[in-house]
Order: sequence, then C-alpha cells, then structure tokens
Amino acid sequence: MSAKIIDGKALSEEIIAKTKKQSEEFEKLHLRKVSLAVVLVGDDEASKVYVSSKIKRTASANIESIACFLPENTSQEVLEAKIKELNDDKTIDGILVQLPLPKHIDSQKIVGMVAVEKDVDAFSSEHMGNILLGVDGLVSCTPAGIIELIKSTGETISGKNAVVIGRSNIVGKPVAMLLLNESATVTICHSRTKDLSLYTKNADILVVSVGKKEFVKGKDIKKGAIVIDVGINRHDGKLYGDVEFASAENEAGYITPVPGGVGPMTIAMLMANTLKAANLRLTKK
Ligand code: NAP
Repeated sequence: MSAKIIDGKALSEEIIAKTKKQSEEFEKLHLRKVSLAVVLVGDDEASKVYVSSKIKRTASANIESIACFLPENTSQEVLEAKIKELNDDKTIDGILVQLPLPKHIDSQKIVGMVAVEKDVDAFSSEHMGNILLGVDGLVSCTPAGIIELIKSTGETISGKNAVVIGRSNIVGKPVAMLLLNESATVTICHSRTKDLSLYTKNADILVVSVGKKEFVKGKDIKKGAIVIDVGINRHDGKLYGDVEFASAENEAGYITPVPGGVGPMTIAMLMANTLKAANLRLTKK
C-alpha cells in the first residue's frame, strides 16, 4: 500500500485564498488593508529567502507588507525603538521579527517586546499559555499548520494515539498541546527517550520535528498512520525531511512530503494569523 500524500502546497493555497477573501472584506469595512511588518536585521542569506517568500505571500492574501530591513550593525536601542514604533502604530496588525538576529542583539528581549496582540508568530508566553489552557487566540504558525494538515485527511483526531518526536518551544511542545486539545492521547519523545520505536510503532498520528535527515524509517511506523514530517534538512543541494519518505510511504496511510508539506502551511498560517490579529485587536477595542 502506498500512502496518500497530504499536499501542503494545495492546502496552503486554499487557506491563502480564504484569507484573501476575508481580508478584502476587512478592507471594505475599515478602509485600510490588513498589514504585516516584517523586521529583518542584517544579511543572513537564509533569512532573506524566508522573508522574501513571506512578503510575496502577503500580496496573494491582500495583506500589506511593511518591510523593515535594518543593517547588521543596528544597535539594541535602535531595534527596540523600531519595535516600539511598530507596536504603537495603529495601522499595523502583525509584527514578525525574523530570527536569528545578529549576535550582539538580545533576541529574547526583542521578541518579548512585540505587543502580544501583534505577535503573529505567537511564541510569547501569553500565546503559549493560551494553547495550554485551550483558550482561543493566536497559535504559532507551524503547529497550527500541522493541525490543519492532519484535519485535511478527514480522519478524526479524538481518541487517536499521537506521538510527537521533538520538544522544541516552536514545534514539539505546542503541537503536542494542540493535539491534546483535540482529545488525542499524546506522547512527547525526545533525545532521552528510550526505545523510541516502541512509541512510534503505536502512533496513529506521528509528528516528527527532530532536524535529522531521514531519522524515522518505514519500519518504525504503524500501518496506516498519519505522518507529519516537519524537518527541513539540506544535504548536497537537496531538501530532506526527518522521515525516510521512500520506506515510510509503504507503511503510512497519509504522509506529508518535504518540500511541499509543512513548509508552505507555515506561511499560510502566518497570513491567517495576521488577519486574525487584526480582527481580534478591533473587537477588543
Ligand atoms: P530543535 O529545537 O532542534 O529540536 C529538536 C528536537 O529533537 C529536540 O527536542 C530533541 O530532543 C529532539 N531529538 C534530537 N535527537 C533526537 C533523537 N535521537 N531521538 C529523539 N528526539 C531527538 O528543532 P525544531 O525547531 O523543532 O525543528 C526541527 C526540524 O523542523 C528542523 O529541521 C527545522 O528546520 C524544521 N522546522 C521546519 C519548519 C517548517 O515550517 N517546515 C518550522 C520549524 C522547524 P532534546 O530536547 O532532548 O534535545
């Protein structure tokens, strides 16, 4: 049996089209576009690529992007002043600070300064706390995209055994909490987990966010499982996931490809989050 491919690219296009429709309604109602400020400091090549693809997608979602590109030698004080200016600007709905910031910058302080209601990356302790409490609000983009990918299979999450490999603050922990909120029975595995395959072989839903090329093999996967591969590993000019696709697709019921799975969904959820932030801010006034 060959797994059904979960097409993250197609799903992301659907989400962006829906966001575009709703942001056009927002524009008609409020006589301005939903807007996203993207802050990039320095010349990191990978960051430039990520930022330009995010900016490109804002146009498809009828969201205005405000590019705040600052030189590598920008001081902590100047960057803090910029964040404050964006926080205070009533026409800006979302602020995204592209990481990593240059080494001389206190990244945690900068990210922590972004106004909670404009924090579309949703990494702040308030947003994370809301996920933990099951309160509706902004959810960080990659975990939110993963849940959409799982739901797109049409399978129910409730009652399933879900295993998340990886406990990062940006993927593993929040996605585990979101799966719990959907009433899955959740196990979080990490580098100290003994006998990992004992868990993976029992997983109806397997989310892998480890950052190691083809770490999970087909033999570790339960027949018919939903497999979400978060990993992006560059090797000899090619992209690989954390799951060995060739062997996994013979076991899984559904699987995300790399590229074309989680990646495009992260950007689509950023657009959806920016629109949500705009609406939440207006309803709170
Ligand atoms: P991370 O912060 O490096 O965390 C990796 C996790 O994997 C850690 O919790 C670590 O355990 C665990 N781990 C490492 N070796 C392991 C092993 N042998 N067995 C079990 N667990 C092990 O990574 P991340 O930020 O979650 O990112 C993971 C991957 O996803 C990367 O390739 C990244 O580029 C990609 N990513 C993609 C997107 C996207 O939009 N597609 C978004 C975010 C990340 P410990 O905690 O014990 O060290």
